[in-house]
Amino acid sequence: MRSNKQIYPYGKQALDLSDLLAVFKTLLSPWLTQGPAVKNFEDALCAYTGAQYAVAVANGTAALHLAVAALDIAPGAEGITSPNTFLASPNCLVYNKVKPVFADIDAQTYNISLKEIEKHCSEKTKLLIPVHFAGQPVDMENIAKLAKAKDLFVIEDAAHAIGATYADGSRVGNCRYSDMTIFSFHPVKTITTGEGGAIMTNDKALYEKLLALRAHGMTKAAERYQQPANIEKGAWYYEMQTLGFNYRLTDIQAALGSSQLKKLDRFVARRRHIVELYNQELKGLPLITLPFERPEVRSAFHLYVLQIDFAALGKNRTQVMEELKAKGVGTQVHYIPVHTQPYYQNSYGYRWGDQPKAEDYYQKALSLPLYPTLTDRDVLSIGQSVREVLTKTI
Ligand SMILES: *Cc1c(COP(=O)(O)O)cnc(C)c1O
Repeated sequence: MRSNKQIYPYGKQALDLSDLLAVFKTLLSPWLTQGPAVKNFEDALCAYTGAQYAVAVANGTAALHLAVAALDIAPGAEGITSPNTFLASPNCLVYNKVKPVFADIDAQTYNISLKEIEKHCSEKTKLLIPVHFAGQPVDMENIAKLAKAKDLFVIEDAAHAIGATYADGSRVGNCRYSDMTIFSFHPVKTITTGEGGAIMTNDKALYEKLLALRAHGMTKAAERYQQPANIEKGAWYYEMQTLGFNYRLTDIQAALGSSQLKKLDRFVARRRHIVELYNQELKGLPLITLPFERPEVRSAFHLYVLQIDFAALGKNRTQVMEELKAKGVGTQVHYIPVHTQPYYQNSYGYRWGDQPKAEDYYQKALSLPLYPTLTDRDVLSIGQSVREVLTKTI
């Protein structure tokens, strides 16, 4: 039996003995960072997704920062992303002096809408950052067509979507429809390295830029040295040819990542099973909308988001969250539309009302606990609690 104090969080990592052993082995090895574990993890990410190159970095936000930086976009350009995302998706544009422009979501998938992207495209637009919200792939086939027609770069924010597949059955992260795809390995995401992220690409030139940007802009590749031949270039020698960062992932984290990646398909299958159980438990309940999955894709189901008509229910979201918490059910809200954040209002003049679909979605959103170590019994009990709290009593 669960004690009264135990609360199901909305998301949680799943670690087992093999993960602990992988980390332990690395801690006893000569390399805590800049050793072989990082390249091994990158190779495993390429093998899993089908992309040619991977660059593991300190977190998903760093991955987005470097992905935009590698494109060398001139200041004054615009990049389009979804308002229904975590702060990092537009922030990476701001880091690179690209103006963030938001395109409203599709009311059914909660993903950025192609029509809305088209509406916001101008001659200043250089880059699209579609976000695979809750793990459901965006319609990338059509985004790629639009990007090609308008000569735009595409970076997929797949922080939620490792393990998901596109309509063609291939895996998110293969970069078939984009220049780069980023992942996050934060503990609430599908696999974890504590903090961590990666950028996937099939473009060798981008890959080499990303490697340099990850480590201070340094290169040790003799064929690319720029200093004249009379400058001695021994084993110690390196050149800084661009301004980079220290965004490295440690070997400790990478070893955990490789171990977690082996379990990814199982994690996603378990998440999808939990989603089916929730759907069975909650269907028919009035005043709610269950998550919609486009039949042609396979979502990784990072989140299980209900849309709840709080006004008709006669309880606000705070009350519902409190009542669920009292029953041991933690919930969360994904996401406050980013354009409404004070920073974005103050810096760009964006306002409430600008993205009506994302704002309407936000007013009704509530994420239920979803992680692979939830048992069927846990899920049925959470479903029961949700039914009790969402049943109108008047
Ligand atoms: C988590 C997340 C990120 C950032 O990843 P971190 O590893 O936390 O920096 C970016 N985009 C989305 C959509 C996310 O959910």
